[in-house]
Amino acid sequence: CGIVGYTGPRQAYPIVLKGLKRLEYRGYDSSGVALLNGGLHVYKKKGKVAELEDTLIGKNMEGHIGIGHTRWATHGEPNDRNAHPHLSQSGEIAIIHNGIIENYAQLKQDLLAKGYTFKSDTDTEVLLNFIDDIRINNECPLEEAVRIALRRVVGAYCILVIHKDDPETIIAARKGSPLVIGIGKGEHFLASDASPIIEYTKEVVYVNDYEIAIVRPDELILKNLGNEKQTPFITKLDMD
Ligand code: GLU
Repeated sequence: CGIVGYTGPRQAYPIVLKGLKRLEYRGYDSSGVALLNGGLHVYKKKGKVAELEDTLIGKNMEGHIGIGHTRWATHGEPNDRNAHPHLSQSGEIAIIHNGIIENYAQLKQDLLAKGYTFKSDTDTEVLLNFIDDIRINNECPLEEAVRIALRRVVGAYCILVIHKDDPETIIAARKGSPLVIGIGKGEHFLASDASPIIEYTKEVVYVNDYEIAIVRPDELILKNLGNEKQTPFITKLDMD
């Protein structure tokens, strides 16, 4: 029910964790984070963010890019396996998702026929492998695969996707579920609403439906699903 992301020079994990706590008020049944640190590391758990945090004490949580999620289950019961982030079958990309993919059953059937197997019961893992299948077959950048995939998706989503070999970039997109991007100095913050962002920057971009954001520490590119660049509209948050 909530998403958080960070890319920049700071350690991502404390920022993502704090952000998840700020989003707790929205309600959720599980939480998880993914960090890029040499490889793609996913940690997730049913229950409160504090329970996730407890299991991570003493672990190496370093990394300058991170994504975090609080889940409100729609497809698949609340448990560790169905919690986000999800890892693609290739192990190369990770996703977090708020919303519902309405045509997931059809997409899943097509992927099963291609030999994909699934580790969770979620619509999200279907979307993830759908994206990854396009990326692998077209040998195209992740951004392009996300764009092609979302043109075929029916439903509501806010997604953040990262690739194990790209330690700078978060690909984000939304339709029907909110997404705010905070603009810092050489860093960016992503979240479902401004509450996790406001302590770091007052400059935010509210991403529109059917837009994809390519987010790097020094760069924010917005495109529509037709691959046309959009001008980010920067809003100044009120301190009060
Ligand atoms: N439909 C997804 C799931 O059930 C995402 C739910 C959410 O918005 O948290 O895993």
